[in-house]
Amino acid sequence: MMVIQDKKIAIVGGGPGGLTLARLLQLKGVDVKVYERDINKDVRLQGGALDLHTESGLAALGKAGLLNEFKVHYRPGAELTRVVDNQAKIHSDQHNEGTNAKFGDKDHRPEIDRGPLRDILLNSLKPDTVVWDTHILSIEQIGNSWKLAFKNGESVITDIVIGADGANSKIRPFVTNIKPYWTGITMLEGSIKDAKKTAPVIHDLLKGGKIFAYGNEKTLIVSSKGDGSLGFATSCKTDEFWHKESRIDFKDNKQVLAWFKKTFPEWSSVWWELFEGEKTLFIPRPQYCMPLNQKWEAKSNITLIGDAAHLMPPFAGEGVNMAMFDALQLSESLTNPKYLNTQAAIGNYEQQMFKRFAKIGQGTLFNTEWMHQPNALNDMLAMFGKNIFKQSVFLGKMWLNVYLVPSVRKAIGFAPVQKVF
Ligand SMILES: Cc1cc2nc3c(=O)[nH]c(=O)nc-3n(C[C@H](O)[C@H](O)[C@H](O)COP(=O)(O)OP(=O)(O)OC[C@H]3O[C@@H](n4cnc5c(N)ncnc54)[C@H](O)[C@@H]3O)c2cc1C
Repeated sequence: MMVIQDKKIAIVGGGPGGLTLARLLQLKGVDVKVYERDINKDVRLQGGALDLHTESGLAALGKAGLLNEFKVHYRPGAELTRVVDNQAKIHSDQHNEGTNAKFGDKDHRPEIDRGPLRDILLNSLKPDTVVWDTHILSIEQIGNSWKLAFKNGESVITDIVIGADGANSKIRPFVTNIKPYWTGITMLEGSIKDAKKTAPVIHDLLKGGKIFAYGNEKTLIVSSKGDGSLGFATSCKTDEFWHKESRIDFKDNKQVLAWFKKTFPEWSSVWWELFEGEKTLFIPRPQYCMPLNQKWEAKSNITLIGDAAHLMPPFAGEGVNMAMFDALQLSESLTNPKYLNTQAAIGNYEQQMFKRFAKIGQGTLFNTEWMHQPNALNDMLAMFGKNIFKQSVFLGKMWLNVYLVPSVRKAIGFAPVQKVF
């Protein structure tokens, strides 16, 4: 018998992690509810496109029986990327070079918009699984149960709480006192409707795919969406509270454009059209990361998945994939009859999650560092041109393989030994 037989599970947060977990648990007959602060499924604009990875995001969707649905809604070609400099000059173009990766290949990373991904997951759940407009303000342990108190004044009692409530998780402090640390980078996210009309030059440059632009220790990533809109994000080094202390009103595009001109002075005026639409929505996103070596003692009735568990910057495109794979590993642990109690099942999941995050987080921080250094463009081109080098280094008691882009290799004085990718 599985340890969560007859137990009520509350998942806090209906993002990709929480919804995937709800689906996987329901397939095993578990009593599960998702408490989501949004007042309904349409209230919040869903951000840019996501690439799902074969070994994580897609593996979870496969287990959830939703791969065929995914194949109906993903956007072939949306992953094709142009690498450009700050003058929008194209240096590498996957539209010309194409990719040979096929669905199911390890390197194939099909793109799907966040909205359709969310719909696939929502439509797979039993009616009323997601309880909208339940913004959790606090939780309280009462005996072996938890009381969840919502902003709307209501509350529920549940047996097990799973925090899937993202970057600023309210559940995290009940699991660990570890806090995310400041990475030194702020992203500014924007979304433009009807890109063909509102930002025609960038729309043409985008060609239905992605743009990675690098220059002067700053980056700009643009991605197309299936509904004709586009999502973009600038990123650069800032003070931690720049988004408040700069006193920019992010609802006023003129103020944001003035900031861009001042902060990205070397960048071509081509980019300005991203900031010129009065209806453009801007969201500053200061980037934090949980410590890569984090660990905590498993509890018997509460745990975390996704950004709540291991927040990190998005520069390796792993956040959604990790969140969905967490859901897969946690659902497998909780429903595996070999565990005699919930603490052992949760502990088994958390141990695997810690290990995965230590590795994936390291790659993510590596990307964060090199994407914001003066040689980012050349390094990115090296990666696209498959000019990345594998170097074996002796660390403590064992050999480790590390992957080095040219500027880092030069800086630390390693000779190239093997090209990879
Ligand atoms: C600009 C940007 C670009 C990114 N690009 C990529 C990418 O290309 N690929 C990738 O893999 N990842 C990317 N990420 C990261 C990715 O968005 C996250 O890692 C992912 O969404 C985490 O999923 P989650 O389910 O853990 O949390 P979230 O998606 O954050 O979902 C949390 C949910 O919980 C709800 N919630 C929060 N607090 C409460 C509360 N108190 N009560 C009730 N509900 C609550 C929220 O409304 C939300 O629906 C990007 C992030 C940013 C900021």
